[in-house]
Amino acid sequence: MSDEYADYALESPADVTPENPYTLPGFFAAMADGQFLAARCTDCETRLVPPRPACYACGSRALELEEQPREGTVVSYTEVRNPPSAFADEAPYTVAVVELDSGARLTGRVDAPYEAVAIDDPVRLTIQEPGPAELEVAREYEEAWPIHVFEPLE
Ligand SMILES: [Zn+2]
Repeated sequence: MSDEYADYALESPADVTPENPYTLPGFFAAMADGQFLAARCTDCETRLVPPRPACYACGSRALELEEQPREGTVVSYTEVRNPPSAFADEAPYTVAVVELDSGARLTGRVDAPYEAVAIDDPVRLTIQEPGPAELEVAREYEEAWPIHVFEPLE
């Protein structure tokens, strides 16, 4: 990880800035720069995605920003057949819970049909520009935020 994120914390109101990756604007700004960040709890090793000011596993505030590996495996998955109306033209599509190689877990779209996905499949997290459906449901300040999509690895 580049050192530019090493000194960020969220300990007082003055730390709440649009550049701070502990805030959603800061998390997505880092993602737009190609850095997919989590907060690593140094007490229990839980990864918080997006970064939060306190660990939701143990309550500790001993957190460090950490760039995440892009590779992971499918933990669980499903097919969305009845999506929100903005995404109707994209249905059916696959959504999975993925555990990255760091242990971080997050949900996201998988760029593969449901029948082609299985538990433990290896996938890679990609960072993409939002598409028309994402832009339709985005609030104005979210329109510049990238999205993540999991690509299957053979
Ligand atoms: Zn913890």
